[in-house]
Amino acid sequence: MKHALLLTSSFLLLACKGVDAPPSIAAVDGPKIATTPAPTTGMVAAANPLATEAGLKVLRAGGSAVDAAIAVQAALGLVEPQSSGLGGGAFMVLYDPKAAKVWAYDGREEAPAGATATMFLDEASGKPRNYFERTGSGQSTGAPGAMVMLHKAHEDYGQLDWGTNFDSTIKLAEDGFTVSPRLAGLITRMAPYILKNDPNARAYFFTEDGAPIPEGFLRDNQSYADSLRALAKNPRALLEGEIAEDIVAAVKMEPFPGTLSLADMAAYQPRKAEALCTDYRGHAICGAQPPASGGVAVQSILGTLENFDMSAAGNTAQGWHLFAEASFLAYADRDKYVADSKFVDVPVREMLNKDYLKTRAALISTDAVMESVNAGNPVAFARGTDATPDNPGTSHFTVVDKEGLTVSVTTTVESAFGSQRMVRGFMLNNQLTDFSSRDKDADGVLIANRVAPRKRPRSSMSPHIVFAPNGEFLFTTGSPGGNSIIAYTAKTIVGVLDWGLSPQDAIELPNVIARNGSLKLEAQNLRDAETDELDRGAGAKEFGMEEATVSALENLGHDVRRSRGEISGLHIIYRQNDGTLIGGADPRREGTAEAQ
Ligand code: GLU
Repeated sequence: MKHALLLTSSFLLLACKGVDAPPSIAAVDGPKIATTPAPTTGMVAAANPLATEAGLKVLRAGGSAVDAAIAVQAALGLVEPQSSGLGGGAFMVLYDPKAAKVWAYDGREEAPAGATATMFLDEASGKPRNYFERTGSGQSTGAPGAMVMLHKAHEDYGQLDWGTNFDSTIKLAEDGFTVSPRLAGLITRMAPYILKNDPNARAYFFTEDGAPIPEGFLRDNQSYADSLRALAKNPRALLEGEIAEDIVAAVKMEPFPGTLSLADMAAYQPRKAEALCTDYRGHAICGAQPPASGGVAVQSILGTLENFDMSAAGNTAQGWHLFAEASFLAYADRDKYVADSKFVDVPVREMLNKDYLKTRAALISTDAVMESVNAGNPVAFARGTDATPDNPGTSHFTVVDKEGLTVSVTTTVESAFGSQRMVRGFMLNNQLTDFSSRDKDADGVLIANRVAPRKRPRSSMSPHIVFAPNGEFLFTTGSPGGNSIIAYTAKTIVGVLDWGLSPQDAIELPNVIARNGSLKLEAQNLRDAETDELDRGAGAKEFGMEEATVSALENLGHDVRRSRGEISGLHIIYRQNDGTLIGGADPRREGTAEAQ
């Protein structure tokens, strides 16, 4: 109780301080980051070929990686509106190869001043309202931060005029783009639920007779082109003026109207801090800061695994067992401790302290699963555990320009099509459902990630940049996929650094997610029970773990859930010793990696 009171009063203190002081958590344990000679050419990897192409055009016109990122984001919001866009938020990790600095930009959405800790609970039952009620509510939408975050980075690293970076997507929106299989599939999947409730979304994603627009359909979006033109003139055009008024009006609509106001939008500022970096076997690993939990959680998995010889264990049941056990521990800590560090003291340094992680690793046995997994006690203070899941609807992209400036960006409207409300050609986010629906856990302890006015919800997004032992840039990685993002991303780092795999092979390793007791993994040759078809998303390739390895994990005591639907969307750019770049794109989605 004493701890709860202390937390409450420190929260009040921070809430009163307002939103100005950026979190500044400096690098942990002195990882080495040096300058890097320029690569032989630039590269873009993104979740849709049209978005990759938009980024490449900007690189070819002399734009920087940040200019290209702006172009990629603009294109993704048009061609992949189910995942990210103007109405969403993002985290970007940026490596400046001349200054040998790594920055974490935070464009996470922010709750309105009127948000309350219990706003997602049903008043009568006191339980969280159902998924679509929370997702499709006006209450779920936070002030969108992706575009102003990119603008902040553009002030630091832009080479082209800010507005120029929208040109190719303005044309694409006016001429029309071809609807991809994945977009068509998701419209069809969401059609029975609430996507048709919003008149703008209904008119845009469905034909006049109410059928979902099909794959191959030529979809234009004049409103989107107009929004980009407005943004080109005013980088804050989504947060002030007519577009902001329309966003606020849509949020105020039934059901469950939100309180997001023009004042909330005007108060929104992106944040910038030093990236969160730790050392893994001599490699600096740099990620985003809280409220992203991906930086600390991926690095906690790695820091725990550092106590084992992962390269000797290899891509075997033993290797995956260690990976799973380290993941269980890291997720438990993340669920308990990570939230917006402007509101809650997140013990990042303590969670990643090598001596602490040694004590966590000591809980792992090589020949049996841990009997119980609890969050550790990196510092002595009580926190309630947040059990809120987050849902697929996100995109990861990465750019390296010819100077070597590097960005790793994960961007999202949260669920598929966000809140499923459409304004001015783009979707509004439902990011505030990433807060815990409850403010206290079952023991009555306050949850770090509870809703509060002007607070940012915890994210699983895990954009990372990895460095070679000499401190030079080695590769970028990151993925969409709800809270599985952490496992997907950590897998690629183990795959490349410990198992010596190429970026593409690391991406194609089976996805293995160990959280809350069960071990979910992609199993080989799993077929849909009804259609008997292999169901592997757009890639339609088999990524599953061999059955013998799965059985060996079961024999170690793991509660294995064979999964068919681990649709990660990993994108990697890797720098080889000779300065050439190679890319990796996840065949589970529609992405491409292309050199300039
Ligand atoms: N909203 C989630 C987050 O920020 C991401 C959802 C997803 O990747 O699908 O962590």
